[in-house]
Amino acid sequence: TGKFFVGGNWKANGTKESVSKLVSGLNSAEITSDVEVIVAPIFLHLPYVVDHIDSRYQVSAQNCWVGRAGAYTGEIAPEQLADMSIPWVILGHSERRSLLKESNDFVGAKAANALAHGLKVIACIGETLEQRESGQMYDVLEGQLKGVADSVSSWEDVVVAYEPVWAIGTGKVATPEQAQEVHAYIRKWLGDKVSQDVSSATRIIYGGSVNDQNAAELANKEDVDGFLVGGASLKADAFATICNARA
Ligand code: 13P
Repeated sequence: TGKFFVGGNWKANGTKESVSKLVSGLNSAEITSDVEVIVAPIFLHLPYVVDHIDSRYQVSAQNCWVGRAGAYTGEIAPEQLADMSIPWVILGHSERRSLLKESNDFVGAKAANALAHGLKVIACIGETLEQRESGQMYDVLEGQLKGVADSVSSWEDVVVAYEPVWAIGTGKVATPEQAQEVHAYIRKWLGDKVSQDVSSATRIIYGGSVNDQNAAELANKEDVDGFLVGGASLKADAFATICNARA
């Protein structure tokens, strides 16, 4: 479905020096033209990365405010990201859902606001191990999807990232079968609740301990349209291998 999509979520990592090395490494990496690649540094590093990374890469923020610019201390509004030529934003990452208590509705409202200001959105969903093992996985995923679907009217600029919480930063990657099972569920849910067109056009990417060793096998699965990569996106070589996983 659509062009293969790989995002590098750098999370709250990096210094001026390490980010400049990573950008040079990415600029000299060989990457197939069959993939859309996004990198997401911290807000502070965004202008540097926008100015220095080559045009094979697009740049993303890791969060944004739910409304317009104004009296919201510490926040950054989507119109301000757009003004700085940042085309993408990651929303609803599990680290923000759990540590900052972002609810399904809040994530949905942020997605709608970001889209309204011309940004493209990587909307993250995913269950914890406890939720999976107690049989609540599909309820949790549906609630997260519904939060986005209730606020978003156009899905053209939305990528859905399935990131099981138990796989994030743990080295415990989902098996290709586990990823495929949930991706197929998401695709069916979009078909039933949004539309067939949205279901077939929306890219559903997997995140959680993806690395240069396991990416190719996951990428072979029918409904895996790409990856959202944390740790391995901080190494240019490993990240390039992941970007080429479908090639
Ligand atoms: P890791 O690749 O480090 O497991 O992180 C995944 C993730 O959370 C990407 O958003």
